Amino acid sequence: MENAKKNIVIAGAGFGGVTAALILDKAFYRSQELRDAYQLIIINNHHSHLYTAALYEIAAIPQGHHKLDYIKSSITIPLAAIFHETHVDWREREITSIDRDKKLLTFDNTEELHYEYLILALGSETSYFNIPGAKEHSFALKTFADGIKLRDRVQQLIESGDAEPLRIVIAGAGASGVEVAAEFENFICMLQKHQGKEAICKTEVMLVEATPEILPGFAPWIIEKAKKRLSHIGVQIKTGVAITAVEKDSVSLKDGTKLPFTVLVWAGGVQAASVLKTTGLA
Ligand SMILES: Cc1cc2nc3c(=O)[nH]c(=O)nc-3n(C[C@H](O)[C@H](O)[C@H](O)COP(=O)(O)OP(=O)(O)OC[C@H]3O[C@@H](n4cnc5c(N)ncnc54)[C@H](O)[C@@H]3O)c2cc1C
Repeated sequence: MENAKKNIVIAGAGFGGVTAALILDKAFYRSQELRDAYQLIIINNHHSHLYTAALYEIAAIPQGHHKLDYIKSSITIPLAAIFHETHVDWREREITSIDRDKKLLTFDNTEELHYEYLILALGSETSYFNIPGAKEHSFALKTFADGIKLRDRVQQLIESGDAEPLRIVIAGAGASGVEVAAEFENFICMLQKHQGKEAICKTEVMLVEATPEILPGFAPWIIEKAKKRLSHIGVQIKTGVAITAVEKDSVSLKDGTKLPFTVLVWAGGVQAASVLKTTGLA
């Protein structure tokens, strides 16, 4: 049976959700009235908070350098640790629908939870803009598992020698795409040297961006500095041309050209978490 107290529920334990929960927790410490009337609950589909800003580094740690558990612990913080000795009750659940009229959440295990107040902090998911083949033939970089999957594929290609030169195309030159491009240029070169390959550092890393410049929205001086640095380390940049379709080993561009790739990383954009469609808000 549900508690007689009303629930303040935070959906999502990313940066937004965790911050909201900890701020509310302070208010709970201060107010007996709040503690008597409400229960503070945070719901997340993983039992840990993911520090996304370091994901591109995870994708560039060679296999065998560290155990997977160790790598994971460097980029995730267990919710149990974050909310230890707080008023926040955390639960690992996938929210499958949100009924704003009934103030009711439904989870993937069919459990339900009523709320009095709901904070939506569900973040975003990768958007493929309905580009045919984009999802099927690319690697995303949104979760810990994504990072490891990408790393494993690149390392396997280098070790097997199946693809030389290795062509990495990165779709989207926002902050994530630029970070991956720079990191991979070094990572792949390091792996190839380690393999004692003759043609060391024979890698093509290319950023493809639909808008006229890389890092859309950033200050011009930052864009110039980033372009200079990327070019210095060998990253190729193609801007002002959108990807219209993706096949197994090539992307088609709006200007009619095709770019072959060995690995395509999709950093092309994000959209609201899909469960928000059940709220009428997205
Ligand atoms: C590779 C990468 C690098 C980045 N680097 C930077 C950086 O250097 N600096 C910077 O400021 N930003 C960076 N960002 C962006 C940053 O990660 C986001 O802006 C930030 O995570 C948004 O926080 P949020 O709390 O809104 O959402 P999120 O952090 O995405 O948190 C949402 C949470 O809700 C959970 N969730 C989603 N749907 C459900 C559901 N149905 N049921 C239960 N739980 C659900 C998710 O699993 C997640 O834990 C980066 C992002 C990526 C992908």
